[in-house]
Amino acid sequence: RLFVDEPLGPGARRIDGPPAHYLLQVMRLKPGDPVKLFDDRTGEWLATVAAAGKRDLTVEVTGLLRPREAVPDLWLCAAPLKKGRVDWLAEKACELGVDRLVPVVTRRTVVDKPNTDRLRAHMIEAAEQCDRTALPQLADPVKLPALLRDWPAERTLFFADEAGGAPALGAMAGAPGPAAILIGPEGGFDAEERDLVRAHASAVGVSLGPRILRADTAAAAAVALWMAAAGD
Ligand code: SAM
Repeated sequence: RLFVDEPLGPGARRIDGPPAHYLLQVMRLKPGDPVKLFDDRTGEWLATVAAAGKRDLTVEVTGLLRPREAVPDLWLCAAPLKKGRVDWLAEKACELGVDRLVPVVTRRTVVDKPNTDRLRAHMIEAAEQCDRTALPQLADPVKLPALLRDWPAERTLFFADEAGGAPALGAMAGAPGPAAILIGPEGGFDAEERDLVRAHASAVGVSLGPRILRADTAAAAAVALWMAAAGD
């Protein structure tokens, strides 16, 4: 099962680069073998290997197995974390069905420029492994004040605040519709940032419980709670 970064449709298609390496050297596919392809646009397609070279292969795409899934309207706005932790976060955002991952640069953010290629690669791998037909969009990093200034009014911003707030599950169940979750960096938001977010018209401060969670854990827990509240 493989992600292809261009629209799929019936007909022959050449695959090269790392995906070809995976299919030829790891999966050891031979002519006649089936393979499933998905593109994050049309859905998942069945294909058959038509020819296999050393570094590339040609597949014949035959039929649409399922259209691209509907994705819950949830954004995850999270401060970029150190490598490893942010990779995990991107993977879980994809598995849990987040529609858009927005890296938010805050005063205590340690990594200002996350490696978006690497994050996308982690999301693609998660989608391949977890039978997803859709990937989260990966937004350009944005500073917190700019994020709040340009915020779409109709989207509730659940601000995960370890200092306290309404219990997250109830607050999320009580505010259906387009939503986003805001998670701070390893060092948390500073007092001024916290005031700025809390004063925003779309923000709802929520607590994930009395224990302080690591930022990546908080992100996954908050997304899971929102999905449970939304029935998604
Ligand atoms: N120092 C740890 C780390 O390295 O990950 C903890 C960081 S915690 C301050 C980072 C973010 O997780 C916070 O800004 C907040 O958004 C979220 N968070 C952690 N625990 C939380 C809780 N119990 N309730 C709400 N949000 C929480």
